[in-house]
Amino acid sequence: MSTPAIYIKQGREKPLRQRHPWVFSGAIQRSDAAPPGAIVDILDYKGSFLARGYANPASKLTARALTWDPTEIIDSAFWQRRVDAAIARRRPLLSADQTACRLIMSEADQLPGLIVDKYGEHLVIQALTAGIDRHIAPIVTALHNALSPLTISERSDDSVRDLEGLPRINRLLHGSEAALSDVLIVEQGVNFRIDLRAGHKTGFYLDQRRNHTLIGSLAAGRKVLDCFSYTGGFTMHAAKGGAASILSVDASEPALARLRENLSANGFAADDARFQQRAGNAFEILRDLVQSGERFDLITLDPPKFAASGGQVEKAARGYKDLNMLALKLLNPGGMLATFSCSGHISLDLYQKIVFGAAIDADRNAQITSHLFQADDHPVLLTFPESLYLKGLLCRVL
Ligand code: SAH
Repeated sequence: MSTPAIYIKQGREKPLRQRHPWVFSGAIQRSDAAPPGAIVDILDYKGSFLARGYANPASKLTARALTWDPTEIIDSAFWQRRVDAAIARRRPLLSADQTACRLIMSEADQLPGLIVDKYGEHLVIQALTAGIDRHIAPIVTALHNALSPLTISERSDDSVRDLEGLPRINRLLHGSEAALSDVLIVEQGVNFRIDLRAGHKTGFYLDQRRNHTLIGSLAAGRKVLDCFSYTGGFTMHAAKGGAASILSVDASEPALARLRENLSANGFAADDARFQQRAGNAFEILRDLVQSGERFDLITLDPPKFAASGGQVEKAARGYKDLNMLALKLLNPGGMLATFSCSGHISLDLYQKIVFGAAIDADRNAQITSHLFQADDHPVLLTFPESLYLKGLLCRVL
């Protein structure tokens, strides 16, 4: 049986020739019938081979390329090769002081739609597309062969599955349920207890690793505000770095409860008065702090994704500007702000302009001392610049 084909419209094949892996429905001239997630050959309008990948007729992002080699067959050996290669690239990152990392980063690791994170001996996978969903069995086998993990959980409960017509799934694929809501990992020497069943994303914001340690190195003696703290990625590193005090703010009570457990896991007393938490809407809490005349020396601003699509950029920009304006007002002279956007639709250039506008509104003069990005286990594929999503600025108020 021959592989079903997708024919690309004349003049629309250039991105594929340049190894960009996405095919939108508008670029397709015609296609053979194929079930969601099936392997397809992607051909030009004359029928010449461009790439091989998987397709989902139900999605506007209809196909994603897996290989540009016409001789490469997508079988279990293919999944094993790609999984092994991605894991081999991460080995140098892992040590006794660093037991968690992203093993597979979707397009950036030439496995579009697949995320795999390692938390100690536990793996968490996310299948974001019908193509990965359909091939989950050989992928799980490949992970087994490579790492013999204690457990493999599937956290395919991201809203992007809706666009693929897939149900949201949260299940255990291998191993026993018992300890999954409390898995201990070490991130750059700092302990974190992770909930792999119900935590955000796959459980932790591994993408902020480098920025977490940067904040740790800046915290000594400083009064810190960790805004959008989640379970304390920045708070823990700042605490270990010798912060004078830390106020952690998040809308989620369970996240703050876990943050307190993480403080204990790093040897801080539960009632240590240096560490305070406030649950609620960060916009309101920041306004409140400004009004009551509070000041800080170091602020982290790490909100959730405000722009899920291009159409939401303007509204997102207003939200980012408000937050940054309030944070800048809260800083003492010489104080530092680490401010982030994880919206792929907001470029670093645009984000810098937003923070510029915020500084004008806050009547603060500031300098940028570093541009910040996602950690290096979240690489950016040159042919797929969309894999850069997390960007930030480290600013000093003059
Ligand atoms: N800084 C964290 C990750 C933050 S993720 C780390 O490094 O681990 C974003 C967080 O923002 C989530 O914990 C979410 O609960 C919180 N959040 C979302 N909307 C919020 C709001 N309006 N006010 C306060 N927190 C909010």
